[in-house]
Amino acid sequence: MTKRELVARGTERLLALAVPGAEYDARELFLAAGGESLASYAAGLADEVSEEVAARYESMLARRAAREPLQYIIGKCWFYGREFLARKGVLIPRFDTETLVEAALGHLKAGMRILDLCTGSGCILITLLLEGPEKLEGWGTDLSADALACAEENARRLGAEAFFLQSDLFRQLDGKYDIITVNPPYIPSSDIEGLDAEVRDYEPRMALDGRADGLHFYRAICADAGRFLTEGGRLFAEIGAEQGAEVRALMERAGFQEVDVVRDLSGRDRVALGVFRNV
Ligand code: GLN
Repeated sequence: MTKRELVARGTERLLALAVPGAEYDARELFLAAGGESLASYAAGLADEVSEEVAARYESMLARRAAREPLQYIIGKCWFYGREFLARKGVLIPRFDTETLVEAALGHLKAGMRILDLCTGSGCILITLLLEGPEKLEGWGTDLSADALACAEENARRLGAEAFFLQSDLFRQLDGKYDIITVNPPYIPSSDIEGLDAEVRDYEPRMALDGRADGLHFYRAICADAGRFLTEGGRLFAEIGAEQGAEVRALMERAGFQEVDVVRDLSGRDRVALGVFRNV
Protein backbone atom coordinates (compact mmCIF):
# COMPACT_ATOMS: atom_id res chain seq x y z
CA MET A 1 0.00 0.00 0.00
CA THR A 2 1.18 3.54 -0.67
CA LYS A 3 1.70 6.16 2.00
CA ARG A 4 -1.27 8.11 0.70
CA GLU A 5 -3.56 5.08 0.89
CA LEU A 6 -2.40 4.00 4.31
CA VAL A 7 -2.82 7.44 5.85
CA ALA A 8 -6.23 7.85 4.17
CA ARG A 9 -7.30 4.57 5.73
CA GLY A 10 -5.95 5.63 9.09
CA THR A 11 -7.84 8.91 8.84
CA GLU A 12 -11.08 7.11 8.00
CA ARG A 13 -10.65 4.77 10.91
CA LEU A 14 -10.17 7.63 13.38
CA LEU A 15 -13.00 9.64 11.78
CA ALA A 16 -15.37 6.71 12.09
CA LEU A 17 -14.67 6.71 15.84
CA ALA A 18 -15.05 10.50 16.01
CA VAL A 19 -11.52 10.87 17.33
CA PRO A 20 -10.75 14.60 17.57
CA GLY A 21 -8.11 15.79 15.12
CA ALA A 22 -8.43 12.57 13.08
CA GLU A 23 -6.85 13.82 9.88
CA TYR A 24 -3.90 15.60 11.47
CA ASP A 25 -3.28 12.81 13.95
CA ALA A 26 -3.42 10.04 11.33
CA ARG A 27 -0.68 11.80 9.41
CA GLU A 28 1.46 12.68 12.45
CA LEU A 29 1.32 9.07 13.61
CA PHE A 30 2.49 7.93 10.20
CA LEU A 31 5.42 10.36 10.29
CA ALA A 32 6.36 9.05 13.73
CA ALA A 33 5.96 5.41 12.66
CA GLY A 34 8.27 5.93 9.69
CA GLY A 35 10.59 8.39 11.40
CA GLU A 36 10.09 10.74 8.51
CA SER A 37 9.67 14.46 8.01
CA LEU A 38 6.54 16.04 6.61
CA ALA A 39 8.56 17.16 3.58
CA SER A 40 9.78 13.67 2.68
CA TYR A 41 6.32 12.24 3.29
CA ALA A 42 4.70 14.84 1.07
CA ALA A 43 7.26 14.22 -1.67
CA GLY A 44 6.68 10.47 -1.65
CA LEU A 45 2.95 9.94 -1.25
CA ALA A 46 2.92 7.31 -3.97
CA ASP A 47 5.76 5.29 -2.42
CA GLU A 48 5.08 1.86 -1.04
CA VAL A 49 5.14 1.50 2.76
CA SER A 50 7.32 -1.25 4.25
CA GLU A 51 5.62 -3.91 6.32
CA GLU A 52 7.59 -2.86 9.33
CA VAL A 53 6.40 0.74 9.16
CA ALA A 54 2.84 -0.36 8.38
CA ALA A 55 2.81 -2.57 11.48
CA ARG A 56 4.17 0.18 13.67
CA TYR A 57 1.59 2.59 12.25
CA GLU A 58 -1.18 0.12 12.95
CA SER A 59 -0.27 -0.19 16.62
CA MET A 60 0.03 3.57 17.03
CA LEU A 61 -3.34 4.10 15.33
CA ALA A 62 -4.94 1.58 17.66
CA ARG A 63 -3.73 3.59 20.64
CA ARG A 64 -5.14 6.81 19.21
CA ALA A 65 -8.39 4.99 18.39
CA ALA A 66 -8.58 4.20 22.11
CA ARG A 67 -8.27 7.96 22.68
CA GLU A 68 -4.73 8.03 23.99
CA PRO A 69 -3.41 11.56 23.33
CA LEU A 70 -1.31 11.90 20.19
CA GLN A 71 1.50 13.46 22.22
CA TYR A 72 1.94 10.40 24.44
CA ILE A 73 1.99 8.10 21.42
CA ILE A 74 4.62 10.05 19.53
CA GLY A 75 6.39 11.04 22.76
CA LYS A 76 6.63 14.73 22.02
CA CYS A 77 4.72 17.97 21.97
CA TRP A 78 5.26 21.60 21.17
CA PHE A 79 5.32 24.49 23.60
CA TYR A 80 6.30 28.06 22.79
CA GLY A 81 7.99 26.92 19.59
CA ARG A 82 10.07 24.16 21.15
CA GLU A 83 9.76 20.41 21.16
CA PHE A 84 9.27 18.87 24.61
CA LEU A 85 9.09 15.22 25.60
CA ALA A 86 5.58 14.05 26.40
CA ARG A 87 5.36 11.09 28.73
CA LYS A 88 2.60 9.23 30.40
CA GLY A 89 2.43 10.32 34.04
CA VAL A 90 3.26 13.92 33.11
CA LEU A 91 0.69 16.53 32.03
CA ILE A 92 1.00 17.46 28.35
CA PRO A 93 1.87 21.16 27.99
CA ARG A 94 -1.13 23.21 26.88
CA PHE A 95 -1.18 26.06 24.41
CA ASP A 96 -3.13 28.12 26.98
CA THR A 97 -0.16 28.00 29.32
CA GLU A 98 1.80 30.16 26.90
CA THR A 99 -0.30 33.03 28.28
CA LEU A 100 1.31 32.51 31.69
CA VAL A 101 4.77 32.45 30.11
CA GLU A 102 4.06 35.70 28.25
CA ALA A 103 2.82 37.38 31.41
CA ALA A 104 5.87 36.35 33.45
CA LEU A 105 8.40 37.15 30.71
CA GLY A 106 7.44 40.80 30.84
CA HIS A 107 8.67 40.98 34.44
CA LEU A 108 11.93 39.04 34.27
CA LYS A 109 15.17 40.89 34.84
CA ALA A 110 18.75 39.62 34.74
CA GLY A 111 19.82 37.88 37.92
CA MET A 112 16.32 37.02 39.15
CA ARG A 113 15.51 33.76 40.94
CA ILE A 114 12.47 31.98 39.54
CA LEU A 115 10.51 29.24 41.25
CA ASP A 116 8.09 27.12 39.21
CA LEU A 117 5.82 25.01 41.42
CA CYS A 118 4.05 21.94 40.00
CA THR A 119 6.56 22.12 37.18
CA GLY A 120 5.39 18.96 35.39
CA SER A 121 7.21 18.72 32.04
CA GLY A 122 9.14 21.85 33.06
CA CYS A 123 7.75 23.71 30.05
CA ILE A 124 7.08 26.98 31.91
CA LEU A 125 10.41 27.20 33.71
CA ILE A 126 12.49 26.03 30.75
CA THR A 127 10.79 28.48 28.40
CA LEU A 128 11.32 31.38 30.82
CA LEU A 129 15.00 30.50 31.17
CA LEU A 130 15.48 30.27 27.41
CA GLU A 131 13.41 33.32 26.49
CA GLY A 132 14.24 35.58 29.41
CA PRO A 133 17.27 37.77 30.12
CA GLU A 134 20.71 36.40 31.09
CA LYS A 135 21.69 35.01 34.47
CA LEU A 136 18.35 33.80 35.68
CA GLU A 137 18.35 31.14 38.38
CA GLY A 138 15.52 28.67 37.90
CA TRP A 139 14.06 26.18 40.34
CA GLY A 140 11.27 23.75 39.57
CA THR A 141 9.44 21.54 42.04
CA ASP A 142 6.89 18.79 41.70
CA LEU A 143 5.50 16.07 43.90
CA SER A 144 5.82 13.57 41.05
CA ALA A 145 9.18 11.88 40.46
CA ASP A 146 8.07 11.05 36.90
CA ALA A 147 7.43 14.72 36.23
CA LEU A 148 10.83 15.73 37.60
CA ALA A 149 12.64 13.14 35.48
CA CYS A 150 10.81 14.43 32.41
CA ALA A 151 11.51 18.07 33.29
CA GLU A 152 15.19 17.34 33.82
CA GLU A 153 15.44 15.64 30.48
CA ASN A 154 13.58 18.44 28.74
CA ALA A 155 15.92 21.01 30.28
CA ARG A 156 18.98 19.03 29.23
CA ARG A 157 17.75 18.50 25.67
CA LEU A 158 16.82 22.15 25.25
CA GLY A 159 19.96 23.51 26.88
CA ALA A 160 18.32 25.22 29.85
CA GLU A 161 20.09 25.23 33.20
CA ALA A 162 17.57 24.59 35.95
CA PHE A 163 17.40 22.94 39.35
CA PHE A 164 14.63 20.47 39.99
CA LEU A 165 13.54 19.26 43.40
CA GLN A 166 10.88 16.87 44.61
CA SER A 167 8.64 18.82 46.94
CA ASP A 168 5.01 19.21 47.90
CA LEU A 169 4.66 22.88 46.90
CA PHE A 170 7.09 24.87 49.12
CA ARG A 171 7.81 22.14 51.64
CA GLN A 172 11.42 21.34 50.73
CA LEU A 173 12.34 24.91 49.84
CA ASP A 174 13.92 27.81 51.56
CA GLY A 175 15.18 31.21 50.48
CA LYS A 176 13.41 33.87 48.48
CA TYR A 177 12.39 34.09 44.87
CA ASP A 178 11.62 37.10 42.68
CA ILE A 179 9.09 35.31 40.53
CA ILE A 180 6.90 32.33 41.36
CA THR A 181 5.00 30.65 38.55
CA VAL A 182 2.56 27.78 38.94
CA ASN A 183 0.08 25.81 36.88
CA PRO A 184 -1.47 23.79 39.70
CA PRO A 185 -4.17 21.15 39.40
CA TYR A 186 -7.34 23.25 39.30
CA ILE A 187 -10.20 21.14 38.03
CA PRO A 188 -12.93 20.54 40.64
CA SER A 189 -12.95 16.81 41.47
CA SER A 190 -16.52 16.38 40.32
CA ASP A 191 -15.70 17.79 36.87
CA ILE A 192 -13.00 15.22 36.13
CA GLU A 193 -15.42 12.56 34.90
CA GLY A 194 -16.78 14.99 32.31
CA LEU A 195 -13.40 15.80 30.73
CA ASP A 196 -12.39 14.58 27.27
CA ALA A 197 -11.42 10.92 27.30
CA GLU A 198 -7.85 11.86 26.34
CA VAL A 199 -7.45 13.88 29.53
CA ARG A 200 -9.63 11.85 31.88
CA ASP A 201 -8.32 8.42 30.96
CA TYR A 202 -4.67 9.13 30.20
CA GLU A 203 -3.36 12.24 31.91
CA PRO A 204 -2.23 12.13 35.53
CA ARG A 205 -5.10 12.93 37.84
CA MET A 206 -2.73 14.46 40.36
CA ALA A 207 -1.92 17.15 37.79
CA LEU A 208 -5.60 17.94 37.21
CA ASP A 209 -7.59 17.50 40.40
CA GLY A 210 -7.88 20.72 42.40
CA ARG A 211 -10.07 19.02 45.05
CA ALA A 212 -13.70 19.82 45.83
CA ASP A 213 -13.92 23.37 44.50
CA GLY A 214 -10.76 23.31 42.36
CA LEU A 215 -9.14 26.00 44.51
CA HIS A 216 -7.21 23.87 47.03
CA PHE A 217 -3.77 24.64 45.60
CA TYR A 218 -4.37 28.38 45.25
CA ARG A 219 -5.26 28.52 48.94
CA ALA A 220 -2.15 26.57 49.90
CA ILE A 221 0.09 28.66 47.64
CA CYS A 222 -1.37 31.99 48.79
CA ALA A 223 -0.91 30.96 52.42
CA ASP A 224 2.86 30.45 51.99
CA ALA A 225 3.90 32.52 48.99
CA GLY A 226 4.75 35.57 51.10
CA ARG A 227 7.50 33.69 52.92
CA PHE A 228 9.17 32.75 49.63
CA LEU A 229 8.83 35.97 47.67
CA THR A 230 11.21 38.89 47.80
CA GLU A 231 9.80 42.33 48.56
CA GLY A 232 8.07 43.28 45.31
CA GLY A 233 8.22 39.69 44.08
CA ARG A 234 5.46 38.42 41.81
CA LEU A 235 3.22 35.40 41.63
CA PHE A 236 1.82 34.18 38.31
CA ALA A 237 -0.74 31.38 38.53
CA GLU A 238 -2.59 29.67 35.74
CA ILE A 239 -6.30 29.41 36.54
CA GLY A 240 -9.41 27.82 35.09
CA ALA A 241 -11.65 30.06 32.99
CA GLU A 242 -14.24 30.29 35.78
CA GLN A 243 -11.81 30.97 38.63
CA GLY A 244 -10.72 34.56 38.01
CA ALA A 245 -12.82 36.25 40.69
CA GLU A 246 -12.13 33.63 43.35
CA VAL A 247 -8.38 33.46 42.84
CA ARG A 248 -8.21 37.25 42.69
CA ALA A 249 -9.97 37.40 46.07
CA LEU A 250 -7.64 34.74 47.55
CA MET A 251 -4.58 36.67 46.41
CA GLU A 252 -5.86 39.98 47.70
CA ARG A 253 -6.69 38.46 51.07
CA ALA A 254 -3.16 37.00 51.21
CA GLY A 255 -1.77 40.53 50.87
CA PHE A 256 -0.93 40.62 47.16
CA GLN A 257 -1.19 44.00 45.48
CA GLU A 258 -1.89 45.01 41.88
CA VAL A 259 -3.75 41.73 41.50
CA ASP A 260 -4.89 41.19 37.94
CA VAL A 261 -6.43 38.46 35.82
CA VAL A 262 -5.14 38.01 32.28
CA ARG A 263 -7.09 36.36 29.45
CA ASP A 264 -5.81 33.78 27.03
CA LEU A 265 -6.02 34.11 23.25
CA SER A 266 -9.53 32.73 23.23
CA GLY A 267 -10.63 35.48 25.62
CA ARG A 268 -11.03 33.37 28.76
CA ASP A 269 -9.51 34.17 32.14
CA ARG A 270 -6.27 32.19 32.31
CA VAL A 271 -3.67 33.78 34.61
CA ALA A 272 -3.90 35.50 37.99
CA LEU A 273 -0.97 37.64 39.03
CA GLY A 274 0.02 39.95 41.82
CA VAL A 275 2.89 41.68 43.60
CA PHE A 276 3.95 40.81 47.12
CA ARG A 277 4.85 43.63 49.46
CA ASN A 278 5.54 43.43 53.16
CA VAL A 279 3.69 46.52 54.26
N1 GLN B 1 -5.87 23.14 31.45
C1 GLN B 1 -5.82 21.77 31.82
C2 GLN B 1 -6.92 21.01 31.12
O1 GLN B 1 -7.57 21.55 30.30
C3 GLN B 1 -5.88 21.62 33.29
C4 GLN B 1 -4.54 21.72 33.85
C5 GLN B 1 -4.56 21.97 35.31
O2 GLN B 1 -5.40 21.50 36.08
N2 GLN B 1 -3.61 22.69 35.70
O3 GLN B 1 -7.11 19.85 31.29
